[in-house]
Amino acid sequence: MIQAIAVENWLDNLPPRLKEWMESRLTKDDDYTRYMKDGRDFIDEHEIWKLIKENRDPTPQKVRSIIDKALSSKECLEPEETATLLNVKDENLWKEIFEAAGEVKREVYDNRIVTFAPLYCSNLCVNNCLYCAFRRDNKVVKRRRLTLDEVRREAERLAGMGHKRLITSYGEHPLSDANYIADTLRVIYSVKVKAKKGWGEIRRVNVNAAPMTIDELEMLKEIGIGTFQVFQETYHHETYYSVHPPDTIKGNYHWRLYCMHRALEAGVDDVGIGVLLGLYDWRFEVMGLLMHSRDLEEQFGVGPHTISFPRLRPAANTPFVQNAKYKVSDEDFKKFIAVVRLSVPYTGMILTAREPEHVRREVLPLGITQTDFGSRIGIGSYSECYTGQEAERQQFLLGDTRELDEGIRWLAEMGYIVSFCTAGYRCGRTGERIMKLLKTGKERIFCKLNAILTYKEYLEDFASEETKKAGEEVIRKELEEVKELVPKRVYEKLLEYLKRIENGERDIYF
Ligand code: SF4
Repeated sequence: MIQAIAVENWLDNLPPRLKEWMESRLTKDDDYTRYMKDGRDFIDEHEIWKLIKENRDPTPQKVRSIIDKALSSKECLEPEETATLLNVKDENLWKEIFEAAGEVKREVYDNRIVTFAPLYCSNLCVNNCLYCAFRRDNKVVKRRRLTLDEVRREAERLAGMGHKRLITSYGEHPLSDANYIADTLRVIYSVKVKAKKGWGEIRRVNVNAAPMTIDELEMLKEIGIGTFQVFQETYHHETYYSVHPPDTIKGNYHWRLYCMHRALEAGVDDVGIGVLLGLYDWRFEVMGLLMHSRDLEEQFGVGPHTISFPRLRPAANTPFVQNAKYKVSDEDFKKFIAVVRLSVPYTGMILTAREPEHVRREVLPLGITQTDFGSRIGIGSYSECYTGQEAERQQFLLGDTRELDEGIRWLAEMGYIVSFCTAGYRCGRTGERIMKLLKTGKERIFCKLNAILTYKEYLEDFASEETKKAGEEVIRKELEEVKELVPKRVYEKLLEYLKRIENGERDIYF
């Protein structure tokens, strides 16, 4: 059986069976054709370029009217409006766009930043993506799939740092299929570690993996998957085919493009889409994300829960990265983030530790809702070699390896409160429901209260003295605001909950 083959020998032993397995993944065209219209997908390249070209050289009045619409209605922008913003040349107008994006973020998500850590479980991969160190032809990478005991150790380490949310990551391979992913989720959810006063545990596991079938997604839903993330990498067909060779599963554009449709059909409410910036023109990718979001909304009544936009990073023995033609500059990265923020105001936006500190500082205020700290992305790195990066174990190199405690203090000093809250998901506030609550502003209150409670848990259980001091000041300011915002009985309940947390009780939420 495939599962019984030793991981160390996978390259030597698997190929014939691997081929069979790869073919079996793509036998049913119906898994994507049934979502297409007249045999066409929702990325109409001609239409996207036409929109970008037709909205060239917009007048300042036109740009300002779109900014006003974004600020007042908080509705998603129409494609021609997004295309107009992408065409702005005047740097002063860009400043106005940046300010508006920040305002939308504050109004919808307040000063909260959700934090998480990545956990790479396996780097065995049958695909050959040119930009990735884990591509199957890259012989310098040390291949490994964590055993479930090793997954437990990694999760214990992360829970011991204070993390409550993880994003697990797996290459595409029969040894890291949906059954393995399911096993890792069960193990991670069972972890509990002793902390200063209470305990540490992982309360939400998001998954970044290859596209799956509806049956597989239903199984993961049953176990309690958080957000299911699959990035299209690039929406531009020709570029997609040029960086994902045809003899791979990932070489099938449509199987990947429609995996979120399958996820929503399987009942996985929260889906995360994304692009890898640097593969194609970033303005086209903004339009692609928007089209993706609109198609999900049209077919399922709900758009993506999150959007990710990693930029290409150096990776072991991966010259494609150095030679990439469409690298996105820091300035264009800011523009990308601001336009996406204004275009889809209720979608979470994830910035990762790929980016160095100075870039994170600059782009956070433009609309970011989630970011990671204390991240290590080598297979087994949290428990084995936490202090450094090891290119041969990693998919790429990180730009920021600051620890969680330092990250929380850094954010506190900039006025952000870190939320570890996972209550919304566990109370069924997901998918279409969470979108409605966000739009009516109700979720904002729940989130604010629960952010304070989970932040307090972190400060009591894991923070250094310095971080605790900065964090208590953040809580003091939050309480002042909450007092004006909620009925007296709710405020008193909040104070009571905070006391109970100080006394060692955990996982209390509204
Ligand atoms: S990007 Fe993902 S699918 Fe492609 S080679 Fe890397 S791990 Fe495999």
